[in-house]
Amino acid sequence: MSGLTKSPWIIHYDASSCNGCDIEVLACLTPLFDVERLGVMNTGNPKHADIFLVTGAVNEQSRDVIRNIYNQMPEPKVVVAVGICASSGGIFRECYNISGGVDSVIPVDVYVPGCAARPEAIVDGVVQALGVLTKKQADFKAAANSRDEIVYRRAEKSDAPEILALQKTAGQCEAEIYNDENLPALQQTLGELQNDFDKAIYIKAVINGKIIGSVRGQASNGTGFVSGISVHPYFQRRDIGHRLVQELEKALPDAKRFEAFTGRPNERALHLLGALGYHEFKTEPFTPAITWVHLEKERK
Ligand code: SF4
Repeated sequence: MSGLTKSPWIIHYDASSCNGCDIEVLACLTPLFDVERLGVMNTGNPKHADIFLVTGAVNEQSRDVIRNIYNQMPEPKVVVAVGICASSGGIFRECYNISGGVDSVIPVDVYVPGCAARPEAIVDGVVQALGVLTKKQADFKAAANSRDEIVYRRAEKSDAPEILALQKTAGQCEAEIYNDENLPALQQTLGELQNDFDKAIYIKAVINGKIIGSVRGQASNGTGFVSGISVHPYFQRRDIGHRLVQELEKALPDAKRFEAFTGRPNERALHLLGALGYHEFKTEPFTPAITWVHLEKERK
């Protein structure tokens, strides 16, 4: 993640713009203003994006899309509202179907003024966004190096957006191991995760109020099923995954045995579960690059 601010990736969404601001965003990306020379890349995939550029005011149709894109982006991430419509609702502010600017739905870090926002102002906004991204990245690193205590507790449904963002961040690192992005954690939507809280429990690891690890568990017929071990990349190799699984096992008192699964060749996850006493008992192919490995253990 060290190249994050040297080559940030941008995702652009038109919330209900008149297209004036969108044309200026495109001008930034094409050869005249050419933000690619600053290392900035445009992507259509939120899981790859660091900066979320939004144009236009928020209406009934765009509200859920904005939330969904934002929640799919890994941490740290920055939101830039481009143009007066995205900043405050602009001339459409009083319309019956407009809820306001982008900050009526998600937190906004940088506001770019103008109607339409000029390309120079948009480039300036992106440069400011890089500063915010650097600061957020430094905060994460400082937390990772701090001696503050990590607290483990049961997550609530309201934690779902933060857990989803964590899953995307950790899932990207895991996908690099497999060279395959078909992992369930990377495909899950916020709605699916929120619904999952009705049947499963999640344990979260929290430092300074920020969720940096999570695991999912469910008990059925005396067996506790463990899955979705996610730890933010800055906090890996600190036994957080180990402790999360132990806390989950404690939170499933009716389970006499446990099952967990992970993918091969993710040797780190296999090692973590092996150190907790899990033994491999079944494998099944998932994709040509990923083989699911099922592991079990009896409660001692
Ligand atoms: S700020 Fe102006 S140009 Fe941009 S979307 Fe709104 S009305 Fe269109």
